[in-house]
Amino acid sequence: MSNPNVSEPVNSLYGSNVFSDAVMRERLPKDVYKSIKRTIDQGAALDPCIANTVANAMKDWAIEKGATHFCHWFQPMTGVTAEKHDAFISPTMDGRTIMEFSGKELTQGEPDASSFPSGGLRATFEARGYTAWDCTSPVFVKENGDSISLYIPSAFCSYTSEALDKKTPLLRSMDALNKQAMRVLKALGNTTSNRVIATLGPEQEYFLVDAEFVKDRMDLILCGRTLFGAAPPKGQEMEDHYFGSIHERVASYMTELNEELWKLGVSAKTQHNEVAPAQYELAPIFATVNVATDHNQLTMETMQKVAIRHGFVCLLHEKPFAGVNGSGKHNNWSMVTDDGINLLEPGSTPHDNEQFLIMVCAIVRAVDKFAPLLRSSVATSGNDHRLGANEAPPAIVSVFLGDQLTDIFEQIANGGATSSKTGGKLKLGVSTLPQLPKDCTDRNRTSPFAFTGNKFEFRMVGSTQSTSGPNFILNSIVADVLCEIADALDKASDVSAKAQEILARIAKEHARVIFNGDNYTAEWAAEAEKRGLPNVRNSVDALDAMIDEDVARLFAQHGVLSKGELHARHEILLERYCKEINIEGLATIAIAKRQILPAAIDFSGAIANTINAVKAAGASSKAQSKVLADTCALIDELQVGIVKLEEAVEKSAAVDDIPKQARAYRDNVISAMGAVRKAADALEMIVDADMWPLPTYAEMLFLR
Ligand code: ADP
Ligand code: MG
Repeated sequence: MSNPNVSEPVNSLYGSNVFSDAVMRERLPKDVYKSIKRTIDQGAALDPCIANTVANAMKDWAIEKGATHFCHWFQPMTGVTAEKHDAFISPTMDGRTIMEFSGKELTQGEPDASSFPSGGLRATFEARGYTAWDCTSPVFVKENGDSISLYIPSAFCSYTSEALDKKTPLLRSMDALNKQAMRVLKALGNTTSNRVIATLGPEQEYFLVDAEFVKDRMDLILCGRTLFGAAPPKGQEMEDHYFGSIHERVASYMTELNEELWKLGVSAKTQHNEVAPAQYELAPIFATVNVATDHNQLTMETMQKVAIRHGFVCLLHEKPFAGVNGSGKHNNWSMVTDDGINLLEPGSTPHDNEQFLIMVCAIVRAVDKFAPLLRSSVATSGNDHRLGANEAPPAIVSVFLGDQLTDIFEQIANGGATSSKTGGKLKLGVSTLPQLPKDCTDRNRTSPFAFTGNKFEFRMVGSTQSTSGPNFILNSIVADVLCEIADALDKASDVSAKAQEILARIAKEHARVIFNGDNYTAEWAAEAEKRGLPNVRNSVDALDAMIDEDVARLFAQHGVLSKGELHARHEILLERYCKEINIEGLATIAIAKRQILPAAIDFSGAIANTINAVKAAGASSKAQSKVLADTCALIDELQVGIVKLEEAVEKSAAVDDIPKQARAYRDNVISAMGAVRKAADALEMIVDADMWPLPTYAEMLFLR
């Protein structure tokens, strides 16, 4: 059946703009196809001799799709993607042109790197940067208005071959994880698998707000979140939005969004209303972490682009509105072999599934041992509003294993696991309803790192973040523990006994990181402190974990980042924090001074005139005088707040050491912004609604 509002049946639409495996098989000579497949599937080195042939086939295909240009598409440390387009044209002597695209143009680009963050890896005068084709993520054609280009997913590095992007460390970490996981599998007797691939299915949360309101909110335009806004009479307390029926206008948006994503081969699968009013979610089907990360970038971009066509603005910020839930990105992660074994699939008797238990225990150890590093991977100024704010996981890293696995974990610690709890059947008490098999374990929505049946779900990731950072870190820490385990197994005469010993040691040593209860409670924070689990409450402190000596050892040992690259990243992230808070501070000042203060002053003037008129008419003006006094007191408070914020921003901007500057913004600017907002939000509750210059929370959250 086809939907008349969708331009093509889904199966012909899906992947239609992707230079996919099927297209390659059809268009490339057999030996060239085989060669590139070896690189994609087995990680063999890319054969430079095939580049011209592949480039030519891509060009012909892209031109048939209407493309005039190609671009290397890469992910600098800005968190968004970058592209520079070149036309296929190549003028001939007789004044005409032919369309050309060489193997060199496919494999290598040379964008000027001087305007991208490098964290001091290169000086601005050293402008050379290189992009290199990543053939493991498919090339695609993208329509953008009337322009159509061929997009080549690429890595980005400096003249001295240091990574300047988000893709390079992710690819390196996938290699590291593959290498160490394969060592463990081989030691445990696996003879069929050749590769272990990290997989990712990122669930993306977002808000949609009518564009008419956004144009009057400089805070949303510049910062992606509201810096002002009194709480509306209704928030999310009715619990009627989550999974609610989808508003028609939003449903149309989702339909077009899916269509655009499907064309790009992005497997958008699930859509629903989220907890907060005006909040939604999209989840794709999982892919390799590299492809899933590229696809998540395309998803975020397409969400924003399609929103505009529907008169919406799509907000990806972690906390667009105070007082209602913020947005995260649930990072579903697993390891799958090339012959299709999900290494986190417990099977029906997990207690005797040695391979599964080793993998789970390795992950538990990695998460506990490197908790501060994992916490740093989600440290952004936006995510600070979310983590620990009683709606998202707390800033304490713990692992949810669920009843069945926790039981096995405890059995292992006490000498060996001999049984697995089973789920049984659900009884609904109505004969006409089907009997449902019950999962062995309930879910836990509050855990930052939860086992969810056959994968782990890392829930601390912020909605705006590239999934590269959290996943290259996850891959690396798990690779590091698997390396330890492989070293021990390789030396052992009795591998099975050694494996049991390792499991028992991990189960005892890392029991402290397992927590199956409600992570939102104050009791858990107190308990976690007793257990010695770190609770790092803000991004500036969290980022310190990146410059730890053992972290530098970890990344260097597994070839993911050199110490120089790591420290550069630390600096870039701190600098980004400073810039974001600086922009928020300046926007707060501008809106408070030029919109809110004038409106409040006008309002007070109008009441003052009324009081005079009422008095002249001989009536009592007691009520009016009270309103005027309250208004004037708040105007004073706002004015004082603005002056203090101006000072705080100015002083913080003048600090020239980046770590110190980040602390200055965190300690002085954020609180000063809060004071301005408090006075302004109180004024919103007094000032005549017709005079208030900003669209309200009620309008933005509830009107579609
Ligand atoms: P939830 O109920 O938590 O929303 P779902 O079962 O809908 O969970 O899956 C959420 C995400 O997890 C989807 O993107 C899905 O593709 C992904 N996922 C499922 N299996 C794996 C796996 N083996 N590796 C990585 N991600 C996976
Ligand atoms: Mg989920």
